[in-house]
Amino acid sequence: MKMPTIVSEFRAGLANGQLLIQNCTDCEQPNMWPRYACPHCQSENLGWRVSGGKGSLHSFCVLRQGAPEGFEEDLPYAIGVVKLDEGVQLAVRLVPDAPGDWESYSCDDRVEFLAVSAEQIEKRPVATFRRVGG
Ligand SMILES: [Zn+2]
Repeated sequence: MKMPTIVSEFRAGLANGQLLIQNCTDCEQPNMWPRYACPHCQSENLGWRVSGGKGSLHSFCVLRQGAPEGFEEDLPYAIGVVKLDEGVQLAVRLVPDAPGDWESYSCDDRVEFLAVSAEQIEKRPVATFRRVGG
């Protein structure tokens, strides 16, 4: 059995099709990436809550070559930084428009969380997002 880590709950949420964000139970502020103490009030009473899963695409990058070691087989893929409507941001994978094609994506686009299979999360424990609307 693997030791629990600070991101264990986040990863378990993804495997269950849920996007969780860390939340301070004292000052109620959301907090991502997870920390051991709340950056707003220094409380160590931190829990998790389900995010609405909507946000805007702060920035993104399509990788077609030169992937980091261990990620070569994923090429091509797109990573982005999403600012959730809760006010926190996280790094995500972006769903292509068609295989290898992220043409429709622009910064500041509205995006939404997309649940993927537990097998996919086991392999790459990262949230997946897609563009919303036209
Ligand atoms: Zn706090």
